[in-house]
Order: sequence, then structure tokens, then C-alpha cells
Amino acid sequence: MAGTDAEVIVLGSGPAGAATAAHLARRGRHVLLLEGRDFARPRPADLRSGEVLSPGSQRELAHLGLPAGDWCLSSFATLRHHWPNGRVTDDPLPHGLQYWQIDRGRFDRALFALARDAGADARDGHRARDLLRDGGGAACGVIARAAGEAERAWRAPIVVDASGRHSALLVRLGLKEADPEFRRAAMICFYESVPGCAPGVWEQHFPGRHDAALKGSRMRDGLYRFSLEVDLAFRDRFAARHGLQTPHALLLALLRELAPALHARFAAARPLPYSMAYAPLAYRVRRIAHDGLLLVGDTTGYLDPSTGQGIEFALRSARLAAAAIDGALAAGDYHRARFAPYLAGRRREIRATLAWLRLYLRLTRRRPLLDAFSHLSPARAALIRALVTPREVVGSGARDAAPRRP
Ligand SMILES: Cc1cc2nc3c(=O)[nH]c(=O)nc-3n(C[C@H](O)[C@H](O)[C@H](O)COP(=O)(O)OP(=O)(O)OC[C@H]3O[C@@H](n4cnc5c(N)ncnc54)[C@H](O)[C@@H]3O)c2cc1C
Repeated sequence: MAGTDAEVIVLGSGPAGAATAAHLARRGRHVLLLEGRDFARPRPADLRSGEVLSPGSQRELAHLGLPAGDWCLSSFATLRHHWPNGRVTDDPLPHGLQYWQIDRGRFDRALFALARDAGADARDGHRARDLLRDGGGAACGVIARAAGEAERAWRAPIVVDASGRHSALLVRLGLKEADPEFRRAAMICFYESVPGCAPGVWEQHFPGRHDAALKGSRMRDGLYRFSLEVDLAFRDRFAARHGLQTPHALLLALLRELAPALHARFAAARPLPYSMAYAPLAYRVRRIAHDGLLLVGDTTGYLDPSTGQGIEFALRSARLAAAAIDGALAAGDYHRARFAPYLAGRRREIRATLAWLRLYLRLTRRRPLLDAFSHLSPARAALIRALVTPREVVGSGARDAAPRRP
């Protein structure tokens, strides 16, 4: 196209951006993928940002053609709940499904390489700052800067913002708002050892009377990851009262107040020298399709990491967005209405699971309900099934396959 740098510019090469770029490039589209990080210079945050991949993510990755690699650390298939009433239950995942524990930095690098191999013009070290608009207000490109270079404009009829929860465009366009129901903070800590951790088991605790949950597991020998989620206002009051700064100090102090036995266990754990905090976890985004602009992955909103499905939703929305964008390019029509199949696909594939997740989060706020749930093994099995059973992957050129174990 004359006067443009690509047919589509994708901002951010996390799971959403890399997958959107790869899907589009495989459809023969000219895609420019701009990622702010420099993958040749891994940061400490890359190592520490371990996460889990749901069965649905694994299925999406198989469809995308990314086999399990060195980013897969281990897997688990048992959910161990420590209920407020003291009961401990083990629930297996259905149908032999499992979650994978991953090294997030390596995973993102593998996705970036996949997009490049698929034919996308993939450039890391390029941070987008603002959107370009045409006379009618439609997006038509971005302003970005590469390290050591002057800022420049990149033009394309369609821009995809996949730059995640910290998207500069979301803020600039005034699209991000708080989730009225869930205002939580998470403190994530890594340990060299944690007493009493069984391999292949994901632990979930509900300490104290507050809206709090501690979850995590062993990722591999010498690496354990646990996160404590609490009500954001409670955390802020607590941190101010005790003058606590680091997530690890906060996690320990909160556990001392909420659950002394759990505190003793984590006081005996050997922390690694990195930890991180997220707040608020949940946010909403008012509109995700615009003239010439589509939001994908976390830029469409986020609820909670409880079911470990953020990456799954990112990959799903990427596949759906790529199909809608391909259709828009074929029609030469980049108006918002043209992206309707993307919105419909998201309603079909993501909304129901999110509704289950919201229900689960409401349940975890009511300690008496949780205690009752601890006795209802069939109800737990049904909820787990509803949350984690992967949906079919639909889309043209589907290379669906059973996920391969790490
Ligand atoms: C505490 C916590 C725990 C979580 N645990 C899990 C879990 O266990 N399992 C799970 O599936 N999900 C989990 N998630 C959610 C998951 O991390 C996200 O849903 C997922 O990473 C979203 O992918 P994305 O591609 O939309 O965004 P991201 O992964 O955030 O990727 C965005 C990319 O855009 C780049 N970028 C940002 N700004 C710019 C810019 N201006 N220009 C260019 N590039 C830019 C970033 O560098 C990044 O590479 C968790 C989230 C939180 C907060």
C-alpha cells in the first residue's frame, strides 16, 4: 500500500501481539510487530515473571505451532485447597489435563521468534508512544522510538494495541477504568525453598477473615513462586501502618496477621532476591474496537489470575482478531463495524469463562460459603471442569492438535 509501512502494525510482543502477528503473517499479510523490550538483553524481571499455562493456552499454542520448549519448567494436575475451616482437599484436573509452569521471559522470546519466522517484520527495542490518526479520526499508524534513534512515524491502515495492562494508548484514549467489584492487589514472591511443597500440586490458601488468597507451587528445583492477593484498600492501610515496602516484607507481615501457621512456614522459606507487586489487578476497558484500531489481550481488560487463563484469553483474542483483520483488509474497510466478528468471537469464547471466574471470586469472598464448598467435592469438580476444560480452537488454517506435555 502506497505511503504505508505495513498492512497492520501490532504493538507489543507478549502472547497477544506475537500471536496476532504470526496468524496474520501466515495469512500472507504484511505485519510490523513493535516490541518495547530488547530481547537480546533479558532483564531480571524476565526470570522472575513465571506463570502457569492453562490447558486452553496449551491448545492455542499447539494450534499456533509452538511446541513446548525450554520455557516449560514443570507441570501440575492437582489443586490442593486449604479451606478457612481447616479442611484440606485435593482435586485432580479433569480428563488428565495439566497446567504447565513456565519461564515467562523465555516464553515471550519464543513467541517473538515464532512471529518473525512466520514472516512478520518483528522489531524489538521499539517502544510506541502515541497513535497517528487521519482527518476522520481513524487510527492510521503510531509514533515509536527505537533505542538510540529519533522518534518516527509508522503508518498502516490497521493498528493493533497488544501492549498489555500498562498500555500507554489505553490511558491516552481514556479507555481504562477500575473494575467496580474487584479491587485487589497481588504480591508475588520467589523462593529457593519452601517447606512442605509437593511437586505436581498447586496450593491455594484462604488465610484469615479478609478477602485474601495465597497460591503457588514449586516451579522446579530451587524455584518456588507464591502470590498473596488481598483487597487493595486493606493492603494500602496495612502497608502505611507498618511502613512496609517490599512485596516479600508485606507478604510475611500480612500472613503473620492473617494466618500465623502459614506465616511460620513462609518465615522458614528461603526467599530469592526478587519479588513484585501488581495493583490493582482488575480493570475494565470501555471499547475494544475502533476505526482502524483493535485492542487484543490484556488491553481489553483483566479480572484476576486465579485460574491462570490470562495468556489463554490473550491467545484466543489474537486468533479471533487476526481473522477479523484479514477480512477487513480483504474488503479494504477499516471501520469499527468491520471488526464485529472479533467482538462476537470474544463473546463466544471468553465471556462464559470470565463469568465463571467472577462467580468463583465472589465465592472466595464469603468464608462460610467457602467452608461449605470444602465439603462439596462434586460441586468443586464441576466448577473446575467449567473453568479449565479447553474449548475447541476454531479458525481458518487451523492446525489444532492435542497439547504435548513438557
Ligand atoms: C499477578 C499476575 C499473575 C498472573 N498469572 C498468570 C498465570 O499464571 N497464567 C496466565 O495465563 N496469566 C497470568 N496472568 C495474566 C497474564 O500475564 C496476561 O493476561 C498476559 O500476559 C496478557 O498477554 P498480553 O500479550 O495481552 O500482554 P503482555 O504479556 O503484558 O504483553 C505486552 C507486551 O507489550 C510490550 N509493550 C508494552 N508497552 C509497549 C509500547 N509502548 N510499545 C511497544 N511494546 C510495548 C511489553 O513489553 C510486552 O511484551 C497474571 C497476571 C498478573 C497481573
